[in-house]
Amino acid sequence: MKQKTIAIIGGGPAGLSAAEVLSANGHAVSVYDAMPTFARKFLLAGKSGLNITHSEDYERFATRFGKANPRLRAALDAFTPADIRAWAADLGTETFVGSSGRVFPKVMKASPLLRAWLARLESRGVKFCTRHRWVGFAQGGHLFETPEGRKTIACDATLLALGGASYPRLGSDAGWVPLLSERGIEVAPFQPANCGFDVAWSELFRDRFAGEPLKSVTVTSRAGTFPGEFVISRHGIEGSLIYAHSATLRDDLLRHGEAMLTVDLAPGRSLERLSRDLARHDAKTSFSNRLRKGAGIDGVKAALLRELTLESERHDPHRLAAAIKSLPIPLLRPRPIAEAISSAGGIAFSAIDETYMLKHLPGIFAAGEMLDWEAPTGGYLLSACFATGRAAARGIEDWLSRR
Ligand SMILES: Cc1cc2nc3c(=O)[nH]c(=O)nc-3n(C[C@H](O)[C@H](O)[C@H](O)COP(=O)(O)OP(=O)(O)OC[C@H]3O[C@@H](n4cnc5c(N)ncnc54)[C@H](O)[C@@H]3O)c2cc1C
Repeated sequence: MKQKTIAIIGGGPAGLSAAEVLSANGHAVSVYDAMPTFARKFLLAGKSGLNITHSEDYERFATRFGKANPRLRAALDAFTPADIRAWAADLGTETFVGSSGRVFPKVMKASPLLRAWLARLESRGVKFCTRHRWVGFAQGGHLFETPEGRKTIACDATLLALGGASYPRLGSDAGWVPLLSERGIEVAPFQPANCGFDVAWSELFRDRFAGEPLKSVTVTSRAGTFPGEFVISRHGIEGSLIYAHSATLRDDLLRHGEAMLTVDLAPGRSLERLSRDLARHDAKTSFSNRLRKGAGIDGVKAALLRELTLESERHDPHRLAAAIKSLPIPLLRPRPIAEAISSAGGIAFSAIDETYMLKHLPGIFAAGEMLDWEAPTGGYLLSACFATGRAAARGIEDWLSRR
């Protein structure tokens, strides 16, 4: 095929993955990004270790994307977690499997991998254009706002990889939504995913315990029961254990105006044993002493019980044991999307074909978090961004070769 000019707009993991496939096959690829540097969210993900993929059984892995599972399957099959580890190793970043099955670079950061990745793309002739904000379509190409003013750039095919709507300060601010909606492309409203929730804490509890982790607990919602830990924040609750429930809780709040999760503060002890042990301490023993001696509970766990139970419950060993095993935390609302790890919503799968091309806009493809899928934390987000970026690149090649 004659060399084609391809514009990739959005230089995050999805866009760079596409640039890798297309440049390897000899196309003239330019990557445009609104920010002064590329892949800022990827770099921030590196601050918490860069959970790059997950090592669980692949059949289980492929079910982590909710209603988008069937649509993402082909892309995931073509770039599996094993492929991601091999790709990172090829760029000089060895990975390891953590105790939870999550996969991290041994250096626990993103910068060496990103540096090597960008260098490889550059050596293949990929052009990088920062401070180029895509502001719409032009005849045969696109309009960008740049420090030198508005520019029109022509190309044979385009990949939009503009990200979702969380952490807008890193570049993915969903400013593209009206540009596609006005072309008749269905975009599901963005919502926070992998987010914390507001809880109506008393001032006393908030001032004393914000920032404290609740360790070795299990949390139950309609999503299931998962062990782990979470953190009391000034506004409510956050942390990986809460994120695992967040899609279900967010949808409950949206549909019913209320949502609840329950915490087991002593997963290692049965209700019967707790009741018996608490009943050994008479009513004259203070609440905190009874909890400490009868249930081994103190600190933030004891304070949470005091915050969320009635005086009458605290005096009755059986009701207190029941509260320890299943303490309900009523939630007010999800934290704002700007604070969420990722977002749900985006371009509807009904608006793209199997090759990731927008049905209404031939030659324009889309990939990454700007598509309407969501997944829990655990390396699934990056995995799907890499995979859809590469799948869209193959779609672009197919489309160009058929013209
Ligand atoms: C704090 C944090 C930690 C995370 N940790 C992990 C983790 O450990 N593991 C994991 O799997 N996932 C993690 N994620 C999620 C993961 O980083 C994202 O899912 C992923 O970066 C999305 O990739 P993307 O390429 O689709 O979009 P993005 O990475 O958001 O990139 C989109 C790019 O498009 C550019 N852009 C947007 N609009 C325009 C425009 N109009 N014109 C030009 N350019 C534009 C942006 O500047 C940006 O560079 C984390 C996210 C956050 C916020």
